[in-house]
Amino acid sequence: MKFLIFGPPGSGKGTYSTRIEDKIDVEHIATGDIFREAVKEKTELGKRVKEYLDRGDLVPDELVNKVVREKLKKVGMDNFLLDGYPRTVEQAKFLNDIMDIDGLILLDVTDEIIIKRLSSRRICKDCGEVFNKLFHPPEEEGVCDKCGGDLYQRDDDKPDVIKDRINTYEERSEPVIDYFEGKIPIVVNRCRKANAPIDAMVKNIIDQMKERDLVS
Ligand code: ADP
Ligand code: ZN
Repeated sequence: MKFLIFGPPGSGKGTYSTRIEDKIDVEHIATGDIFREAVKEKTELGKRVKEYLDRGDLVPDELVNKVVREKLKKVGMDNFLLDGYPRTVEQAKFLNDIMDIDGLILLDVTDEIIIKRLSSRRICKDCGEVFNKLFHPPEEEGVCDKCGGDLYQRDDDKPDVIKDRINTYEERSEPVIDYFEGKIPIVVNRCRKANAPIDAMVKNIIDQMKERDLVS
């Protein structure tokens, strides 16, 4: 099973992916996590991508494509949920040329929700689990429910960078939906509330995937 999960920053890609991964047994691969990890570890890759991440800009296609191809090779190329990739039409073409994708999960949310969610989002520095101070708080403030790690706010979740990320999404990433339209099945999860219950959203996604025979 080869799936993509797609949507603007703050649409819940990471949050839903970790739950979908448990339910349908696919490997969740998030390019954002790969890049943040590289920056943290100060690897060659980290040094090259840091300035883009800090500004909320896209990492150049050629570099992203290379990183993704290597990662997919490592996991065997045939069982994954890709989160945060492809994010430009060039990336989509690259991926489509190297393999057939089974379906795309599209998270449809409003700008208002994005801004509310991103500004109160907190991430576990050890396991990457996503929390939200307002809508999905951890049991103990600042501590991860899953692993006990410390929670932090991403630099690109600060207000001035959020606007740039939304613009970048609209200009560069939204055309990816048109690219896949008619090529692969697209399952749409519509969300109109910043605090929509996570379990219900995940159930809606999986039910739609079952209805369309994408998973059993
Ligand atoms: P979000 O979807 O919340 O914006 P991600 O964690 O997916 O965050 O990505 C964080 C940052 O990593 C992006 O702002 C961008 O700089 C970089 N990035 C991740 N995936 C890609 C990609 N496919 N192409 C280009 N840049 C990417
Ligand atoms: Zn954790």
